Amino acid sequence: MSEPSIFTRILNGEIPSEIVAQTENAFAIRDIHPQAPVHLLVIPKTQQYRDVVELAAGDPALLTELIGLANTLAAEHADGDFRLVFNRGANAGQTVFHVHAHVLAGGLEERHL
Ligand code: AMP
Repeated sequence: MSEPSIFTRILNGEIPSEIVAQTENAFAIRDIHPQAPVHLLVIPKTQQYRDVVELAAGDPALLTELIGLANTLAAEHADGDFRLVFNRGANAGQTVFHVHAHVLAGGLEERHL
């Protein structure tokens, strides 16, 4: 068993962070370094999948649950529109190898992609 990830430690209450929403298998927190007016992380409670490619192959229903939670949160925290970003791999900027979706919302009319 690998060391608990930072997100597992947050879920277990070992690192302070407000859990803004939970479903059966996923939870959400605010990113500590927000890149948009609303920047949430939607995270499976299990850390067994390192990235979105592993998650899609191993548990597509859980990936669908993450997207549903992202959609709910974008409606609660912004106007319902959102950008969903999964970094996969260190060369793409991934720093935490416990799969998570960045939910970016609010004032994103100026596109960067
Ligand atoms: P990534 O670079 O895609 O792996 O994203 C990891 C994200 O986790 C970064 O955007 C960090 O700002 C965020 N992060 C790291 N530590 C914490 C923390 N303790 N609470 C909230 N967000 C965090």
